[in-house]
Amino acid sequence: MSRPISITIDSTILKNNLSIIRKISFNSKLWAVVKSNAYGHGIRYIWKLLLDADGFALVELEDALFLRKIGYIKPILLLEGFFEKKELEIFDRYNLISCIHSEWQIDVLEHFNFSAPLDIYVKFNSGMNRFGFDLKDFLVIWNRLSSLKNVGNMTMMTHFVNIDDFSYLKNTRRCISSILDNYKIKCCFANSAVILFSSYFNYDWVRSGILLYGLSPTGNDSDISNYGLKPVMTFSSKIIFIRDVNIGDILGYGNYIIKEKKRIGIVACGYSDGYPRNISISTPVLVDGVITKTIGLISMDTLIIDLTCCPKAHIGSNVELWGNNISIDKVACMSNTISYELISSLSSRIPILLK
Ligand SMILES: *Cc1c(COP(=O)(O)O)cnc(C)c1O
Repeated sequence: MSRPISITIDSTILKNNLSIIRKISFNSKLWAVVKSNAYGHGIRYIWKLLLDADGFALVELEDALFLRKIGYIKPILLLEGFFEKKELEIFDRYNLISCIHSEWQIDVLEHFNFSAPLDIYVKFNSGMNRFGFDLKDFLVIWNRLSSLKNVGNMTMMTHFVNIDDFSYLKNTRRCISSILDNYKIKCCFANSAVILFSSYFNYDWVRSGILLYGLSPTGNDSDISNYGLKPVMTFSSKIIFIRDVNIGDILGYGNYIIKEKKRIGIVACGYSDGYPRNISISTPVLVDGVITKTIGLISMDTLIIDLTCCPKAHIGSNVELWGNNISIDKVACMSNTISYELISSLSSRIPILLK
């Protein structure tokens, strides 16, 4: 018997989200972004639900290999490219597409002995200053790469900083348009936020991560619920212990003192599962259909909930920590983070169930 905690994946919702994103992004081809174990949804379980996407994009070479080994033949893009020269053998053998964001990668690429030219995504910096070549150097970089016999198809890629900043977007658009007016090239610019809010950047390919999983890139549900996108993941556990506590009793670590008589439940979920420890006391959870809240500090393997308002709750009652009823954005907000961090930090000890 294992701990009664689980991540449940709704297959129908995931497939439905994919087809909705297809509609929102019009004729663009769609990369399903499955880095960080498919944002905690389990790449080994969900890849088969995403076969309608035009390819998978991720940063882990091991998972790219997994996809090839189970027979996936559509394009696979490594969003950060190769980290060292010897990985190029794998890119070559398994027909993987590499992002190229740095000069050193071009030098390595130039001198490697490939069996076939490598398809690449050339990354340009549009203000994030994280990866990529400066847009002002576009011509030099593009021409150098196109002249290499080792390079196959080339796509221009960038990642936007701030889609709320209208003047930044306008500026970037002007800069990119001046390049695209002169060069007929394929482009891939849009992540989830851009797909939602700035669709004129869609171009040939879009890269969708968080939207696929039915969560909002801004943390505001209403951005996506209008489109019918729904959360794919339900994170839940069960009550494994119940007791009554009195005024003055201490609860868990941290000297949390009870101020009124209560019935409390211990839930098999703690910070080592990925439930944030720095959460505010009083974060909502759903117990057998009734909303109540956490109380006291989160332990490594357990958390405490207030059952005073749930007289019917019993050992074995189901507790939704986030999902369709408890908004992950609310939980994220109460622990000062974003949904991206919560889902991608879930522990590998939690079983993933496909519904
Ligand atoms: C993670 C990632 C994405 C996906 O971002 P979402 O906001 O989840 O859609 C897109 N592009 C790159 C380069 C990424 O690293």
